[in-house]
Amino acid sequence: MSVIIKGEQIYEGKAKRLFNTNDPDRTIIEYKDSFTAFNGEKRAEMSGKGRLNNLISSEIFEYLSDKGVPHHFIERIDELCQLAVKVRILPLEVVVRNITTGSICKRLGVGEGIRLQQPLVELYFKDDDLGDPIVTEDHAILFGWASQEDLWAIKSVAVRVNDLLTALFNGISVVLVDFKLEFGKDMSGKLLLADEISPDTCRFWDVSTGDRLDKDRFRKDLGNVLGAYEEIWKRLSGRAK
Ligand code: UDP
Repeated sequence: MSVIIKGEQIYEGKAKRLFNTNDPDRTIIEYKDSFTAFNGEKRAEMSGKGRLNNLISSEIFEYLSDKGVPHHFIERIDELCQLAVKVRILPLEVVVRNITTGSICKRLGVGEGIRLQQPLVELYFKDDDLGDPIVTEDHAILFGWASQEDLWAIKSVAVRVNDLLTALFNGISVVLVDFKLEFGKDMSGKLLLADEISPDTCRFWDVSTGDRLDKDRFRKDLGNVLGAYEEIWKRLSGRAK
């Protein structure tokens, strides 16, 4: 189908809106200017944020396409919107960590900034009312959130995406500290990497200064939040390809 027509809104989340299109297998994702943290308790609007996350996430998914990672992204349509395969999102957040910070330090009492010997993959049950609790693979299987086969694939894609993104960001002098992925199933039941990959969902530290170039600037009131997102976009888009 060549011409895609935007239809009615089907979902509004904290950072994005989803729309139907004239193709039942496709959705349009529109990025919003909203910031939220701490399970929606802290909120702000910043003009230009949606554009930056759309640009950054599109660029990253295009990079992953070139590397053969199966995902939902089709193309960026304009400054705020992208076209994607319509998927049913699995109710799991998949977090990959290279360096300790954030919730793992609070939960386990481990120090900040420890480089892990290998990437740590964690699963969280996506449920705002419960505060997205950490779960095991057995929880996911027994409660029907994902099959064993899904989880094997999810873990292997998550580790591969970590390798690919670590290399991508190394090349622009950014340390990929940790990030969150979401997965979905398309109409035929195929598992696809979905959602967004942006400074909202990753922790990026400047390799020489250690400056936070991600949503931690908002979470911790570090200032110049959009400047950090702009810096990530500048380095990503300006890199030698
Ligand atoms: N993350 C996310 N959405 C969430 C929770 C975490 O995108 O709902 C990302 C977060 O930006 C970080 C990584 O997942 O890059 C690990 O987050 P962590 O578990 O440390 O949680 P936080 O400290 O953000 O509560």
